[in-house]
Amino acid sequence: MRKKGLLLVLFSFLVMTIFAGKPIKVVVLDAGHGGNDPGAIGITGVKEKDITLILALKVGKMLETFYPNVKVVYTRTTDVFIPLNRRAQIANEQHADFFMSIHCNSATNSSSYGTETFVMGMDKSAANLAVAQKENASILLESNTKENYGDFDPTSPEAYIIFSLYQNVYLEQSLKVASTIQSEFKNTLHKVDRGVKQAPLLVLWRTAMPSILVETGFLSNKTEEAYLNSAKGQEELAKAMFRGIEKMIKENAVAEQTVTPIQENRTSVQVDTNNVKIDTTDSKLVIDSTKQVNYKVQFMVINRVVTIDKIPDVEIVKIGNGRYKYYSGNMSTYAEATERLQYISAHGYPDAYIVAFDKNGNTMSIQDAKKNER
Ligand SMILES: [Zn+2]
Repeated sequence: MRKKGLLLVLFSFLVMTIFAGKPIKVVVLDAGHGGNDPGAIGITGVKEKDITLILALKVGKMLETFYPNVKVVYTRTTDVFIPLNRRAQIANEQHADFFMSIHCNSATNSSSYGTETFVMGMDKSAANLAVAQKENASILLESNTKENYGDFDPTSPEAYIIFSLYQNVYLEQSLKVASTIQSEFKNTLHKVDRGVKQAPLLVLWRTAMPSILVETGFLSNKTEEAYLNSAKGQEELAKAMFRGIEKMIKENAVAEQTVTPIQENRTSVQVDTNNVKIDTTDSKLVIDSTKQVNYKVQFMVINRVVTIDKIPDVEIVKIGNGRYKYYSGNMSTYAEATERLQYISAHGYPDAYIVAFDKNGNTMSIQDAKKNER
């Protein structure tokens, strides 16, 4: 669907663009469980729902104090039950720029300890699935489960097959803030770093923004239970999560002003509708160097190359870590890009968004792009 005669220049130098995260204006903090859902219960009876609420309120307080321009929204501030899908809904309604769900772990092995942070996605790891099954079991306490999740049985591993095609548009941003928080736990608190992981977590599933779920420690471990239940532990854990979010706030504020191209191996795959051409040997993105602005719609980031049927002018770009970004089109005006975005959103990619590149293939802010349109 490219116009005939349009000069498409494949630029051959290697660049990577930081996909500038959006400035963080609204943060939604989600205290896991609540009400008749206590979550995990520790050895001495400490309840997950109580610890998560304390932590969420503390993180929020820190954000409100140091970043008064950032709006903090809590999914709950008291001991009440909130369905998992409602938590995501709150974040979407608030047009949140970041969503963090706070939890405490438990394991049958009482010596398990450490912190881990999850992003939404399918992973083959049985351990990650076990965490998801445990956290998702909250829906069994909800009243209209069928309406909200269909026949999905959170306790059955087989049920999770439906997530194998899940596409996380915000994966990079989510992974980034997740690893910052894990580093804070590890370096500042000297907590055991169980890593950043992917799991099919219902609370993150429908969120339309970077989102993570933090497991702050094991209530099934006596030492960690005591730490999670102590004022010192709560302060330290909250501070670590706050610092992770703070880093994202600062970086995204800078990213909005200047977008710096840096080096990366990029593999471009040009896919014409119904005619898949895969070139994994070179590193290019289709840019028309005669135009000051090239708009594309980014609609997916996944870890494999797949054929896309309904979307025109698809380009697939390898971005490292075995992941691929999927773009559509090369539009000259924001109006055209918006039209394309609407089409793509309506065809199975509701989280798609517009990205602008200059004639050299460097990303630019949409604001600048609009100014430079011709
Ligand atoms: Zn939990």
